Amino acid sequence: MPEFQELIRDAAPGAGDVRHRRWIYVPYDRLCDGTGPLAETTPGDAGIVMMEALAKAHRRPYHKRKLVLILASQRQFALEQAARGVKVAYLFTPGIFADGLQQAQQQYGFERLEMMEPAEREMRADVAEAAQRGIRINQVPDTTWLSTAADFERVYGKPAPGPVSRHYVMDRFYRFMREKTNTLMRGGQPLGGQFSFDTENRKSYRGTPRVPIRPTYAPDDITLEAIEQVERAFPDHFGNVGNWQLPMRKPDIDAAWAWTVEHLLPVFGPFEDAMYTPEPDMFHSRMSAFLNISRLLPAGVVGDVLDAAAKGLIPLASAEGFVRQILGWREFMRHIHRVTDGYRNIDVEQEPPRTAVSGEAATVLVQGITQHAEAPPRGATAASLAPQDDTGARPSALGAALPLPAAYWGVPSGLNCLDTVVRQVIDEGWSHHITRLMVLSNFATLCGYSPRELCDWFWIGYVDAYDWVVEPNVLGMSTFGDGGITATKPYVSGAAYINRMSDYCGRCQYNPKIALGRTPVPILRCTGAFLRSMKPC
Ligand SMILES: Cc1cc2nc3c(=O)[nH]c(=O)nc-3n(C[C@H](O)[C@H](O)[C@H](O)COP(=O)(O)OP(=O)(O)OC[C@H]3O[C@@H](n4cnc5c(N)ncnc54)[C@H](O)[C@@H]3O)c2cc1C
Ligand code: SF4
Repeated sequence: MPEFQELIRDAAPGAGDVRHRRWIYVPYDRLCDGTGPLAETTPGDAGIVMMEALAKAHRRPYHKRKLVLILASQRQFALEQAARGVKVAYLFTPGIFADGLQQAQQQYGFERLEMMEPAEREMRADVAEAAQRGIRINQVPDTTWLSTAADFERVYGKPAPGPVSRHYVMDRFYRFMREKTNTLMRGGQPLGGQFSFDTENRKSYRGTPRVPIRPTYAPDDITLEAIEQVERAFPDHFGNVGNWQLPMRKPDIDAAWAWTVEHLLPVFGPFEDAMYTPEPDMFHSRMSAFLNISRLLPAGVVGDVLDAAAKGLIPLASAEGFVRQILGWREFMRHIHRVTDGYRNIDVEQEPPRTAVSGEAATVLVQGITQHAEAPPRGATAASLAPQDDTGARPSALGAALPLPAAYWGVPSGLNCLDTVVRQVIDEGWSHHITRLMVLSNFATLCGYSPRELCDWFWIGYVDAYDWVVEPNVLGMSTFGDGGITATKPYVSGAAYINRMSDYCGRCQYNPKIALGRTPVPILRCTGAFLRSMKPC
């Protein structure tokens, strides 16, 4: 029997446990005992149901690293809870989570389960399906969030009936949250006299100050087993899983976070937007993957940053920059997902049927991309991107609909900025915010690639991607697919921005200063051709 199953067997409930304990379903993205029903129950009175649903992992060719992260985190959490005295019913199902819940019901006869309202729409669909099959699940508010639906309504008012067409500006919500939580405020005024120090946080980086070397964590036995199982079961999935260095045990995650607060966040602000090949992570925390599965809680993370700032260990501009990401953007995006039902309920043009790469569109694509555009690698075809039941909303306010080229799957394009970031995603399942926004998405928007295909690519490729966060970021913020519900303008730039904020251009075969001529300068040529073919919005 595999090692994890051997270890968790002793924590399985007996008939008395089933009758006398409070039973809580813990989905893979709410792995926490610091808030919610599990926090309210003493371990000796609590039982949790957890499961691995194979169909979920097969739904898209998810990055292998993402699958390992989720499986190993779940297993670590189950063992941690067992060590606290919580009983654990851990199930494996070839189907979806609804099948696993039904299996749990049949095997143990739970009268009722409790769970925090799922963040993920796909999980909500599974739970609804389980309820239809007669499984009683009592959903309680998800207290991992820092804001509520009522907070969002207090800022923007009650949503009008029908499809959403209004523009939400994040800044208003962020100010409200700062005031409501009295964060970085004094006497009702923002510390430092302004709510945002964003304009101070746009420095480019050329090697100083040095980025401290991050602590690395060799995989423990549970993680090694998950790596081996994922390699075996999902050989065609995207990405590499070798050279594992992420913390997976809770004490290691906490230590990595404490190290981040001490060594990275003091310098986070000024270089937030910088891109530099020898330091692909810059001063970013890399904590999103842990936040999104609740191995770290937003309240704790923000609290630690505020404590460090109060002690003078993190300058105000850096602390504010970080807090804005969590208290502002992260919460805002989740509400955008909620009020638009994952952009299914918006009044914006949907993407037309796929157009072939031909004519003028083809000429704007770089040769290296065009020749591979119709042949993405195995396990990553456009068809395999589409889940069988719900392919997701396809808003495309700018009329973009070209297929995503194979450069995003690792076929070199010759564009150094694109190739460098894609390489990092293949190896690590992560890259920082500006590379996502101003390289991967910028290029896609300029070239007119389908926002939906780009979004699915991010969803597959990034260890921190889930529908509630990846869709607003890609279909909304970065590609303007939603026509401005989430962001005031499309985030696009020419090569000059990339040249200023990164060292990519100096290492590229193209010249960022030449817009037209015999030498193809892809981003700028793409811009011109795409803009010519773009419909007025
Ligand atoms: C095109 C695109 C796609 C993105 N897809 C995702 C995604 O799938 N999952 C995801 O968690 N973030 C996504 N983001 C937001 C952001 O890029 C990542 O949260 C961040 O890069 C994660 O790295 P970090 O933990 O080092 O973040 P830091 O730079 O250290 O920031 C701290 C935290 O703030 C939060 N945060 C910052 N910006 C955002 C944002 N725009 N939306 C939500 N949370 C935010 C994250 O939890 C992050 O961990 C995306 C951004 C863009 C432009
Ligand atoms: S020259 Fe153009 S393609 Fe090359 S790295 Fe710079 S922006 Fe990217």
